[in-house]
Amino acid sequence: MPRTDLLLALDYGGTKLSAALTGIGERAWRALERVASPPQHDAQYDQTTMCALAHKLLDAHTPRAIGVSFGGPVDAARGRVILSHHVPGWEDTPLRDQLQQEFGAPVSVDNDANVAALGEYRFGVGLTESLHPERSAAESKEPSLLYVTVSTGVGSGIVIDGKIYNGADAMAGEIGHTICDPRGPECICGRRGCVEAMACGPVIARAARERLLAEPDAVTKLRELETRGTLTAADVARAADEGDELARAVMDDAARALGFGIGTAITLINPARVVIGGGVSKSGERWWQIVRASARSNTLPQMRVAIVPAALGDDAPLWGAIALAEDLIARG
Ligand SMILES: [Zn+2]
Repeated sequence: MPRTDLLLALDYGGTKLSAALTGIGERAWRALERVASPPQHDAQYDQTTMCALAHKLLDAHTPRAIGVSFGGPVDAARGRVILSHHVPGWEDTPLRDQLQQEFGAPVSVDNDANVAALGEYRFGVGLTESLHPERSAAESKEPSLLYVTVSTGVGSGIVIDGKIYNGADAMAGEIGHTICDPRGPECICGRRGCVEAMACGPVIARAARERLLAEPDAVTKLRELETRGTLTAADVARAADEGDELARAVMDDAARALGFGIGTAITLINPARVVIGGGVSKSGERWWQIVRASARSNTLPQMRVAIVPAALGDDAPLWGAIALAEDLIARG
């Protein structure tokens, strides 16, 4: 197979698989495919489906390098998946070596929040919304960035001096499990009052259901959705945006908890900017105002961080994977 200037990006999510192709130095996709995973799928399904997807995009060409974003903890230095919280069978998988063998190209693997952080740093808000517009694009890259994703969970990735910070146990950036209220609701990690247990999508939907039960006389458009059994965090966010008082109270609590956690992270890292992505970040201006205010009130006034929406949206992990692939080439 001929060598090419093609870069392959793979994103293994808990509910979907994505693969995309671009060329070295290019900033648009030549091709992109997303496949929703069936319920109760396993690692074997993910592996087979992703390889088929990638081979289809490559059309018998060999890529120069491959970057991989994986939805779960990853030992990036050894290229091994530690596990997936959503998909069984991923425990201690040598994904880097497997993909190198399959595609005959160098591979770099990291956790999805870390990879998305790198994507936003290299190609997203790190460039498009500079705090210093008088500088050129290359100079204006901020030295540090905290990326926070809020959807079914709350995760984050930290980029310092242009590189992902992984931590001693590949666990850095677990902002979702910093504690916001020690007497708060129980978290999946076994402790109480973690940011994730107070601010993620499923928690917003559950908090709305509990409030509907506790306030049977409250007038709210959420009651009908709850009766139909379809109430989601997006419904609560939409109702809040339209002025529904009960929905607002739920969203405000979640936004305050998230902002508190972000404030803690800002105080420790002092990043130039915090980028928030994930489904819950599309909750409207009121949610953003409360997140920002809560973060600022939980950090020191000298820290002038900008808290902004993700610029790359759902493509952030794929573009971060391209950044990983480019780093492999730069290292030779
Ligand atoms: Zn927790």
